[in-house]
Amino acid sequence: MNAPIPVFDGHNDALLRLARAGGDPEAAFRASRTGHIDLARMRAGGMRGGFFAMFALDDSLPLDFKLFDAPPYDLPLPPRMGQAEALARIDAQATIAARLERAGLWRLVRKAADLDRGGVQAVLHLEGAECIGPDLVELDALHARGLRSLGPVWSRPTIFGEGVPFRYPGDADTGPGLTPAGKRLVRRCRALGMVVDTSHMTMRGFDDVGAEGLPLVATHSNAQAICPCSRNLTDRQLRDIGASGGVVGLNFGTFFLNPDGGRQGAGALDHAIAHLAHMIELAGAAHVALGSDFDGAPMPEDLPDAAALPRLVARMAQAGFGRDTIAAICHGNWDRLLRRVLGPADAG
Ligand code: ZN
Repeated sequence: MNAPIPVFDGHNDALLRLARAGGDPEAAFRASRTGHIDLARMRAGGMRGGFFAMFALDDSLPLDFKLFDAPPYDLPLPPRMGQAEALARIDAQATIAARLERAGLWRLVRKAADLDRGGVQAVLHLEGAECIGPDLVELDALHARGLRSLGPVWSRPTIFGEGVPFRYPGDADTGPGLTPAGKRLVRRCRALGMVVDTSHMTMRGFDDVGAEGLPLVATHSNAQAICPCSRNLTDRQLRDIGASGGVVGLNFGTFFLNPDGGRQGAGALDHAIAHLAHMIELAGAAHVALGSDFDGAPMPEDLPDAAALPRLVARMAQAGFGRDTIAAICHGNWDRLLRRVLGPADAG
């Protein structure tokens, strides 16, 4: 039996799941009966690493995925979250990330050379910068704890900008771009050698990141042309990602994948191939990767967890994607982007 092709994934919410579950995060990360991702299933699926998000969930307003059952839908932007509340939640998840590293279960990627080391590689990501104040002190503190990737907004406003509301049909042209503080945040991320993630950003925010000269990265977004929901990217945005040397990661979440925008439905692997083919056509094969959204969105029946990744790889081969293209999508493109952003000189 051939070993599964290595997968480096652009987005998951395993740290949020571990933090919410309580108990022993090391045991739960080794193997767990819930969620989509743990070491056992990563090994089975060939997943050798990825971007692991920290996210400040509003417990009083948990996202109810049933809202996506009957498109069209148009959800209001969730309310702002206070900095102290967000910081407490993010601190708990950064602490779990450090515990997993101390236990030898994974290694946080701090500099480009870390991508050459064995074991599970985790790029620590912040999804929404509510926990960071206007002086950006918390950004430097989180960078020192291993943070190497950041999305200024999730789908709610921050002092840095505004996210897109969940809407189907609709695109991300929904509101303002980065605030002056948001532009300072993006510049500081560039200076620190961090990825800036535009998934969840408004179209104007996306353009503002591009105007700062950073590679345009959307860690977990799909193509509007296949599924016109507001979290997915227009053809123009996909072209810009390719032209900037950035990367877009295919989101497996059903309501980003299914053409009808619904939470249920068959044919997910075919829809995934349609998104990938379209994104390759617009952005180029060197700029398309995976960004599962494991533990953060409902997964399709035929792609239920990390152990199922070889099914998607097999479908790519069936669809006529060449070996080099499959390797680029599965790990090569994230690898190249990370080496470029983290840089050989970053002593981390
Ligand atoms: Zn997300």
